[in-house]
Amino acid sequence: MSRVRFLRNPPVSELGSGVEEFLRELGAPTCIFLDGEDNTRTRALVTLLHGNEPSGVMAVYHWLQSGLRPAVNVVCIVASVVAALAPPAFSHRMLPRARDLNRCFRAPFDDAQGALAEEILEILRLHHPEAVIDIHNTSGSGPSFGVCTHMDRQHDALVSLFTQRMIVSNLGLGALMDISEHSYPTVTVEVGGRLDEEAHALAYEGLRRYFLAPTVLAQDETDWGLELLHNPIRLELCEHVTLTYADQPCESYDITLRSDIEHHNFGSVSADTQLGWARGSERNLFRAQDASGSCAVTKLVRIVDGELYPARPLKLFMITNNAAIAESDCLFYAVADDGSAICA
Ligand SMILES: [Zn+2]
Repeated sequence: MSRVRFLRNPPVSELGSGVEEFLRELGAPTCIFLDGEDNTRTRALVTLLHGNEPSGVMAVYHWLQSGLRPAVNVVCIVASVVAALAPPAFSHRMLPRARDLNRCFRAPFDDAQGALAEEILEILRLHHPEAVIDIHNTSGSGPSFGVCTHMDRQHDALVSLFTQRMIVSNLGLGALMDISEHSYPTVTVEVGGRLDEEAHALAYEGLRRYFLAPTVLAQDETDWGLELLHNPIRLELCEHVTLTYADQPCESYDITLRSDIEHHNFGSVSADTQLGWARGSERNLFRAQDASGSCAVTKLVRIVDGELYPARPLKLFMITNNAAIAESDCLFYAVADDGSAICA
């Protein structure tokens, strides 16, 4: 049974007024095929894998309203329509108890989210696009960046349609971009905070460039001048460790992070920049694994007299100031302050 609806060149009169109404018109995960000037090639755009990240689907909606015709055929996949519509709109990353769809792009595909991911992969396989771009928002405010699993000029070229910063990371979590290894050049673009007008604008500008450019893949060894961040390590909490955010240590929590910690997003922090307060030893509170699978906690943080500091100069990003995200996902990602991977 197909979960995905199919539309081809939907007329402006069927789009609804506003992006929420557009999603209600869709009503289910939808694949929108757009005929291009050159119909011998196809590009793919995937978005709304996470229902609370609206910039990508807003950009698709504005494109459809513009009546423009893309340079080549485009397949747009708008995924978590149902989660996005669960009230209040754009507040659910996924439906309660469902798996994170962007962790489902590998077997087993045996639950509803897995089946949807498998169907998306099948649609991509049928169209065999020359490139795939997956648009996301970050949960907090922050700058835009691209993510890919390995570095090559095609990934550089695709990311540079949107932003100048790229994370090269192969965590093998089952994200859509993992297909890049063996299928088509695939990148994730995080256009910025899910509530930021700037992020919505960037999603549309980048989408226009992606749809209208005659070529989007690198023709030669162009240096795109991207800032590269290699193999970031995730700092996670150990089981049952409690965390809060405040400007002074909170007695009832194991860890208190400074409430302005987000300001370090994508900046360098020196080894004496205080990140917060913590009671106990680093390894009892935090978990982190480097690319070889060894524990990297003490390469990231150190605790001195109850104060928490970086273990060395670092560049931090995807810093959250939301304790629920820190507990279920991670506190932040880190690389060495020159953008290289952290090694022993
Ligand atoms: Zn996302």
